[in-house]
Amino acid sequence: MSSIQLDAVRKEFGSGGQKIVAVENVDLEIRDGEFLVLVGPSGCGKTTTLRCVAGLEDVTSGTITFGSRDVTDLRARDRDVAMVFQNYALYPHMNVRQNLGFGLKLSTKLTTAEITERVEDAASMLGIEDLLDDKPKELSGGQQQRVALGRAIVREPEVFLMDEPLSNLDAKLRSEMRTELQELQQTLGVTTVYVTHDQTEAMAMGDRIAVMNDGELQQVGAPETVYRSPTNEFVADFIGSPSINLLTVDVEGSTLVGPGDFEYDLSDESPVQGYDRVRAGFRPEDVELVPEGGTSTTVNVAEHMGNENFLYLELAGRELTARIDSAVRPETGETVRFTFGEEALYLFDPDTGDALK
Ligand code: ATP
Repeated sequence: MSSIQLDAVRKEFGSGGQKIVAVENVDLEIRDGEFLVLVGPSGCGKTTTLRCVAGLEDVTSGTITFGSRDVTDLRARDRDVAMVFQNYALYPHMNVRQNLGFGLKLSTKLTTAEITERVEDAASMLGIEDLLDDKPKELSGGQQQRVALGRAIVREPEVFLMDEPLSNLDAKLRSEMRTELQELQQTLGVTTVYVTHDQTEAMAMGDRIAVMNDGELQQVGAPETVYRSPTNEFVADFIGSPSINLLTVDVEGSTLVGPGDFEYDLSDESPVQGYDRVRAGFRPEDVELVPEGGTSTTVNVAEHMGNENFLYLELAGRELTARIDSAVRPETGETVRFTFGEEALYLFDPDTGDALK
């Protein structure tokens, strides 16, 4: 097994005026045995980063190291990685056993008996040992995805690289497979980089998550750290569902003055000193309804969800979201007052988006 280190990795596509910088100056260490999730919106450079690690793209500059081995100039087949993609493309004319063993037969010097053993071990690990004689078209989507994983497992690689491997599955199966995949990764202990655009998936699966935007790494950390201590407004907004509430507010001494009757007294004005305006964020679950004081808003929509309620509130033309206790049931059109604790307040520079300490 091995750690993976990216140093100042840059990847450009095209040339001259048509140049696209897909990945810019990425420094990232994935620890030995870690499950790292690379997450970000469509087009932010996740897949390109993964393909650079795999050796399917050459980096424009920078280096990639596995353990102490510089693999930057190695071909994909010499890097000892196994990839799992969204489109797993099993060979339709081969049964599961043949699909699992095919890559090994081609690329290793293993004997037939050794291949059979690896295939059977992987199949039992994935719970597909009864399907070994079936053809892909006889399998459900989840079973096919397991076979695709099996093809990666039998190779016993140093590194697993996975690009949205669960996105073709329905919601229920996807969440089951998330857990299975995590358990499997823990059992095998193989260093894994997993790409997804789905922040819920990232939060649920990653030992650490690496958030990307516009080709650049924004933050790397444990899911809880990234959620509770985002380094900038992009991360705060991207991570969390429903999204964080964000308002532009004026700074008047230690008071934040915003739209409508929003006024918030800070216990310490040092983070906002020198600013006329800042961006203020608070998460839906931190909103508390109060009988008096706080900020008054109108309930646009109240969604009663069983164990919790979502309120979509309007504050002087801006929409805010609150996740509240299911016992509290305001009606559409009602005026409610809210506040939130200071520990739940996030402050950002209005120009750079950087978090204010
Ligand atoms: P998605 O989740 O939509 O796949 P992503 O975050 O994985 O997005 P990439 O696929 O890495 O993003 O793409 C990053 C940028 O690089 C995009 O602007 C994309 O159009 C561009 N790009 C990717 N591959 C190529 C290529 N082979 N040639 C030219 N441009 C490319």
